[in-house]
Amino acid sequence: MLIDNHGRPINYLRLAVTDRCNLRCFYCMPHEGEEMIRLVGVLSEMGISKVRITGGEPFVRRDLMQFLWHLSELEGIKKINITTNGVLTAPLVPELKKIGINSVNLSLDSLDRQRFYEMTRRDELPKVLATLNALLEHEIPVKINSVIMAQKNDEDILSMVELARDKNVSVRFIEEMPFNGEGLKLENFMSYHKIIEKIKSKYPDLYKIEDEPNSTSYNYQIPNFKGNIGVIAAFSRTFCGTCNRIRVTPTGVFKTCLYDEGVMNIKDLMRSGLSDEALKQHIYQALQNRAKDGFEAEARRSTLVTESMTTIGG
Ligand code: SAM
Ligand code: SF4
Repeated sequence: MLIDNHGRPINYLRLAVTDRCNLRCFYCMPHEGEEMIRLVGVLSEMGISKVRITGGEPFVRRDLMQFLWHLSELEGIKKINITTNGVLTAPLVPELKKIGINSVNLSLDSLDRQRFYEMTRRDELPKVLATLNALLEHEIPVKINSVIMAQKNDEDILSMVELARDKNVSVRFIEEMPFNGEGLKLENFMSYHKIIEKIKSKYPDLYKIEDEPNSTSYNYQIPNFKGNIGVIAAFSRTFCGTCNRIRVTPTGVFKTCLYDEGVMNIKDLMRSGLSDEALKQHIYQALQNRAKDGFEAEARRSTLVTESMTTIGG
C-alpha cells in the first residue's frame, strides 16, 4: 500500500498517454509554432543559417506547412531541409517546392514490401515511393537514408544502390546507433567498413568523391550512375571534428552533441520569460562547454544512451 508522508493512501494513477492534442486552448498551451519561430529567429541572429526539420515525423503536425512558410520568411535562414519517413509527404511536395525547401532526406530501409513492413511495423512502402517520385518530379534534391542492420536488411543494400543508377538521388547507408528506446545491444550492428565491402562486392569500381564541407557521409560514385552513394558512420563517429550542428528536441532540450543528454531546456527558459538577449547568453554559454566528440559527450552522461531517436530527431 502506498501512503504519503501525510498519511494519505495513494490508489489513483493518472496516465497521460500522449502530449499531442487536437485543440490548442490558449490557457493550456502556448503557441508552439510561434515559440519555434522565435527560437530560430534568435539563433539566426547568432549565425545559424541552415535548419533541418525532423521529429518524430514532421508531417504528422497539422500546422507543419504553415510553420514552414513562416520559417522561410526568416531573413537569416538560407536553407531549410526536412527529414521525413515519406508516408504523408507526397501530396504536399508541390507546396514544399513553392516554399523553397532545399532538400529532403527520405528514410527508407528496404524496397521489399514485406521487409519494409517488418522494419517499420506498417505497410506503407507504396506511399514512401510515391513521395520519392514526387520529389524527383519537382526537382527537390533528395537523399535516401537507410539504417543498415546485419540479418535485417543488409540484403537490401544492393537493390538500394540500384536506385542511384537512373535517379538523381544520393543513397546513404547509416550505421545503427543505440537510440532505440531500450538501449539494447547492437546485435545486428554493421560497420561502415562492412557496408562499403558489401557494395564493392557487386560494384568493384565504386570510387570516392569529394565530400561537402561538414558532411557526415563519406561519398562515392559508381561509373555511369546518375546518383551517388554515401555511408554515415553514425556509431563509429568519424565526423565529429567538423560538426557544425546543434539540436533542439521536441520537448525543448538543447543538445550540442547527438550523444549528450541535453545541456538545458530552451523551451522552459523561453517560457520563464527570458529576453532574446538573455536567451542568446544561455546558448552562447552552452557552446563554450561542448564535448570535443560524441565519445566525450557520451562519457559525460549520467545515464546510458537508451532514449529513442524520435525524442532527438536524428
Ligand atoms: N520520422 C522521420 C524519418 O523517419 O525520417 C524523421 C525522424 S527519424 C528519428 C530521423 C532518422 O533517424 C531516420 O532516418 C531514422 O532512420 C534514423 N534513426 C532512427 N533510429 C535510429 C538508430 N537507432 N540508429 C540510426 N539511425 C536511426
Ligand atoms: Fe517514426 Fe522513428 Fe521511424 Fe522516423 S525512424 S518514422 S521517427 S519510428
